Amino acid sequence: MDITLMPYAFFEGNMVPHEDAKVSIATHALQYGTGAFAGIRGYQDKSGSAINIFRLPDHVRRLLQSAQMLRADLPYGPEDVEKIIIDLVKKNAPNHNVYIRPLVYKAGIVLSPALTGIRDDLAIYVIPLDDYVDMSAPLKLMVSSWQRIEDNIIPSRGKFSGGYINSAFAKDQAAEAGCHDAIMLNRDGKVSEGSGANLFIVRNGTLITSPVTADILEGITRRSLVEFARDQGVPVEERAIDRSELYVADEVFLSGTGVQIAAVGTIDGRTVGGGERGPVTEMLQNVYFSTVRGEDTPYSHYVTSVPIE
Ligand code: PMP
Repeated sequence: MDITLMPYAFFEGNMVPHEDAKVSIATHALQYGTGAFAGIRGYQDKSGSAINIFRLPDHVRRLLQSAQMLRADLPYGPEDVEKIIIDLVKKNAPNHNVYIRPLVYKAGIVLSPALTGIRDDLAIYVIPLDDYVDMSAPLKLMVSSWQRIEDNIIPSRGKFSGGYINSAFAKDQAAEAGCHDAIMLNRDGKVSEGSGANLFIVRNGTLITSPVTADILEGITRRSLVEFARDQGVPVEERAIDRSELYVADEVFLSGTGVQIAAVGTIDGRTVGGGERGPVTEMLQNVYFSTVRGEDTPYSHYVTSVPIE
């Protein structure tokens, strides 16, 4: 399904109508996948007069870390990128939830698949976005036969455009099999993550997620949920997860900016956690959603509220 862009984009240093944000077919990033991006949600505040962005500085930091790995040379520091994003949201004046997609990319027209000596740039667009997975019914997942890219191939902790070919193969296979999404294992055969989300299980009251060394993207939602759970007295372990633990877990859910916190009901045809959303999943959803919708929670400091005129 094609997406609809909001009227203004940030392109080559300016806010322009999105129709004018166009690149050459010979652009390095288009040819080689040499870009890095962020995916940031803005939630309409319960007052309706602001867009609440969850953990904006953390998203910008991860974007610039990915850019640094790509040896991108940008004229913007973290505060500049945050300000551009805030200004772009204001300029688009949304009256609905949005998703903001900043992209750092090798913009030069250079033939060699190198990293240096190529012009870099920053582009950002905004789209309207509500839940894109059905939050009312637990998801049907499968373990993919596609292995997660590993750190010494295309670093998963970088949110690199080209790395998402791996996600696309896994997601496509899952869709062909009638599943909502795929779970990918790493070279060690341990659970890594979903095609575009981190994965948690609950066993005997303990919340467990794969460690940052399991070829995962270091999710900002993941980090937040670990904090929420610990604050609620739920023990948390970051450790390798076996495939068969998925089948016997009391709860399984995916976490990410896009999927938010999505309960999983079946994996490889087995019903997990009774096929229903479990109590830890529900508690974390409640904390997350009340925070991003602008209610006063212990995590309200993670929200950047952008007033909309
Ligand atoms: N893993 C992958 C591969 C992703 O694309 C995403 C979405 N950005 C995540 C995990 C979750 O990260 P975050 O919570 O920062 O959105």
